Amino acid sequence: MPNQNNFEQFYSEMITCIKCSRLVTFREKIATEKRKQYIDEEYWGKPVPGYGDINAEILFVGLAPAAHGGNRTGRVFTGDKSADFLMKCMDRTGLANQINSDYLDDGLILNNAYMTVMLKCVPPQDKPSPLELKTCFSYFNQEMKLLKNLKTIVALGKIAFDGTLKYFKQFDDLKTKDFPFGHGKSYKMPNGINLLGCYHPSPRNVNTGKLNFEMMTSLFRNISNKI
Ligand code: SF4
Repeated sequence: MPNQNNFEQFYSEMITCIKCSRLVTFREKIATEKRKQYIDEEYWGKPVPGYGDINAEILFVGLAPAAHGGNRTGRVFTGDKSADFLMKCMDRTGLANQINSDYLDDGLILNNAYMTVMLKCVPPQDKPSPLELKTCFSYFNQEMKLLKNLKTIVALGKIAFDGTLKYFKQFDDLKTKDFPFGHGKSYKMPNGINLLGCYHPSPRNVNTGKLNFEMMTSLFRNISNKI
């Protein structure tokens, strides 16, 4: 069974990480300069831990914390527009108890779901370098080992999808070309876990209509029905 103490120990080590100098500088710069509307808040400005039910069967994986979202609040998918959209969809499909994810201790409870990010620190322009992704992968690896009940992984965007596939490649001879990313594309990994592609709930995808509420909630309903 997943163990809360193991998670706490893992995250207490992770949040002190300074391996990627560019990202350390950036996360601290954002936390110091702040956005005008949050000027009175103390930003987190460190690697951002995952959040949710540690016994979950469903894992949501995003790219990285948002500059004024997770990097400000200290919780993934919290306090930004992506979180607003994601949580509305999760609430509607029973995966969350409320439509808002605004700050730590806001009462958010995820039902049978856990969420994390592939890269634990916010990257400039949301674009991590290949080396940064490679360096941070060790944390995702450790997190995956702690989440022992997973049945479905929802990869929010291609970078999260490719990173998750990389995790499974450690154990089996999987070819990337056999697993193209797409919204709703689902693959059974050799250990039985489903890897599901999903467009990232970013304002860019939502505002351009690439992703809408119906697309996201029908995908989430499918997952819940199969578990
Ligand atoms: S991105 Fe990951 S490896 Fe790099 S500094 Fe942040 S936590 Fe450390």
